[in-house]
Amino acid sequence: MRVLVTGAAGFIGSYLCEELVAEGHEVYGLDNLSTGSLSNLQSIQNHRHFHFVRGSVLQRNVVLELTATCESVVHLAAAVGVQLIVDKPLESLHTNIQGTEIVLEYANRFRKKIFIASTSEVYGRNSAVPLREEDDRIYGSTTISRWSYAGSKAMDEFFALAYHRTTGLPVVIGRFFNTVGPRQTGRYGMVIPRFVRQALRGETITVYGDGSQTRTFTFVGDVAPAIVRLLFEPRAEGQIFNIGGEQEVSILELAQRVKRLTGSASDIQCIPLDQAYMEGFEDMQRRVPNIGKLKSVIRYRNSLSLDQILKRVIEFERTRPDAGQ
Ligand code: UDP
Repeated sequence: MRVLVTGAAGFIGSYLCEELVAEGHEVYGLDNLSTGSLSNLQSIQNHRHFHFVRGSVLQRNVVLELTATCESVVHLAAAVGVQLIVDKPLESLHTNIQGTEIVLEYANRFRKKIFIASTSEVYGRNSAVPLREEDDRIYGSTTISRWSYAGSKAMDEFFALAYHRTTGLPVVIGRFFNTVGPRQTGRYGMVIPRFVRQALRGETITVYGDGSQTRTFTFVGDVAPAIVRLLFEPRAEGQIFNIGGEQEVSILELAQRVKRLTGSASDIQCIPLDQAYMEGFEDMQRRVPNIGKLKSVIRYRNSLSLDQILKRVIEFERTRPDAGQ
């Protein structure tokens, strides 16, 4: 099958493209390389079933042509990472709202099945454990820019569901819970690559807040095949699925694990949220998914423990050609 992947050169996008090509699909990967990198696609860039297109989801003519060519679409292109959203709020909103609107519009025009990437951020500060897909969203004020990410992704979900209900467009929505693994960049705030790089360089490991907040990290090598299965599973149409790990960990404990696994002499230091991000920043205290719905529709298993994931990231960061940067 011919599949269009937007955000193909991003962290999750690159694993997804590899997975699709390995399964014998023909992939058209669209990416404007704003946060993604061609080096992520090294293993498939010369594959005869992979076609890279440099462009943005905001370019209507590009999206039109690719959507017409392909039989299904996975829409991952987005401004991701709380840091990026806080730093570039306007650009991020445009990409996340208008970009998705354009991709959905053409998927609908040409009647192509589409997977929309969403995030556990949409639950906001609802810290119910575990979070189920139909649980409430609880957000802070619009004056706090971190909430614009949750708001924009929630709007994407509303759009996708509205298309499904109004025109019968086959859509599937996946909410990712802190997807991690080798190739993820720490440039936009993501905690694991940041901690690993700090530990390997002997720099202070920066825990934001008091470190009691928890996350449930998900290995990218499990997320990519889950996206493919959801895309091709008729029972998933019109539905939202949490895609997440099962091992909850506090950020302070994460820092300690990274220090131990790297054998680093780095100090671990807590930095107030106001200093780490901006005045009035609010963090999410807990985020644990219920993945029962996902498992009821596709085959899904979290294949690695947190330490196993960390070891892979450490190995990757140690051997990265630009490891000094
Ligand atoms: N975090 C941290 N130090 C860092 C980067 C992030 O303590 O250098 C914290 C961040 O405040 C959050 C958690 O780690 O509580 C996960 O952050 P990330 O940006 O990876 O994902 P989020 O869950 O915020 O989307």
